[in-house]
Amino acid sequence: MNADILVIGGGLHGLSAALQSARRGASVTLVERHFLGRHASGATAAGVRTLGRHPAELPLSLEAAGDWHRMSELVGDDCGFVACGQLQVAEDEAALSAVKARVERLQAKGFTHERMVEPDELRTLVPDLSAHCLGGAWAIADGSADPHRTIRAFRDAALAAGVRMTEQCKVTALTRRSDFWRAETSQGSIEAKVVVNAGGAWAAEVAALAGDPLHHAIRTSMMVVTERTVARIGPVVSSLGRKLSFKQTAQGTLLIGGGSQGKLAADRQSATVDVVALASSVKAAVRLFPTVGGLRIVRTWAGMEAMTEDHLPVIGFSRRVEGLVHAFGFSGHGFQLVPSVGRVLADLVCEGRTKHDLAAFDTNRVAAERAAA
Ligand SMILES: Cc1cc2nc3c(=O)[nH]c(=O)nc-3n(C[C@H](O)[C@H](O)[C@H](O)COP(=O)(O)OP(=O)(O)OC[C@H]3O[C@@H](n4cnc5c(N)ncnc54)[C@H](O)[C@@H]3O)c2cc1C
Repeated sequence: MNADILVIGGGLHGLSAALQSARRGASVTLVERHFLGRHASGATAAGVRTLGRHPAELPLSLEAAGDWHRMSELVGDDCGFVACGQLQVAEDEAALSAVKARVERLQAKGFTHERMVEPDELRTLVPDLSAHCLGGAWAIADGSADPHRTIRAFRDAALAAGVRMTEQCKVTALTRRSDFWRAETSQGSIEAKVVVNAGGAWAAEVAALAGDPLHHAIRTSMMVVTERTVARIGPVVSSLGRKLSFKQTAQGTLLIGGGSQGKLAADRQSATVDVVALASSVKAAVRLFPTVGGLRIVRTWAGMEAMTEDHLPVIGFSRRVEGLVHAFGFSGHGFQLVPSVGRVLADLVCEGRTKHDLAAFDTNRVAAERAAA
């Protein structure tokens, strides 16, 4: 036996699961077919957001929020996390009613991480915001981090905890023997008791190798970086009902994203920028912040990630195959969840259970035969 646990996928979820399992004494091997962070985890906007989360994700998200504020304790670095707050603005009456209803629902259940802000406070928080915004929801403890520093910190902590990592190593076959897995890879075979499928946009391919056919779509979210400008925007700003998320980095560049989709290659192995769709995101950003209208765009990219129909991730044991745990389908908002999901995965692989209720993330939702029906 080479390892207790084989983690397939060297994005942040694979790294976090590997790190937290190794810290509990498991021997862990992680394989990544490109290089660590090559896909969603390296392409992310790295927003650390509890704001507007689906209620089913809130327990994991609020736990992760605490982790982000103490990130150095977990990985020896703050990962560039800045608690600059996240603001979701309402640009019309319908959006304002929807934001108010959500905040009231949360408060009725005792959640206090979001509160409403009136137009005057909006202008204090973000002076350059267009006058047409009617109010919004504010999550003061949210913020954003540096994705590459986060990948480095999780990698270094995982190596220090004894995780064996191999890059340029693709898993091509998985066979269940009596009570262990044998994985064939582009760099030889590996035997392990448990496999963690953290394969991101290719999680369904990994699941199929293990005899657990699952279905998910692929998101190809795009990002834009502008030239540097005078620092003016503190929080991360989004707009309800629009594909827009907007922030200013410490260097003064603006980072615009929010879910506009690029073009997926026919073989589903890569994605490229769709300039027309991107233009609508940029237009939405300029409507919100008219003062940024003349800035030059210096870089754009598209990142790939698995997306489920209900936009909730798949986290938990396979319902069909023994010794297989899935963690994918974060549908564009998995960065913030990295510390808590890694802890849950370590619970599952090391102890066979977790205190978290994973019903909303059940694998059965994405069973291939359901998708085909
Ligand atoms: C443009 C963009 C912006 C985003 N913004 C935010 C945000 O602001 N806030 C937020 O919370 N989330 C955000 N997200 C989502 C977040 O980045 C992802 O949910 C998260 O990074 C997913 O991490 P992962 O480890 O599951 O996947 P990935 O990082 O994609 O890792 C999966 C890895 O598995 C590897 N792999 C696949 N198959 C195999 C195989 N057979 N053998 C070996 N390796 C294999 C792949 O090469 C890949 O590196 C964004 C995503 C994108 C793309």
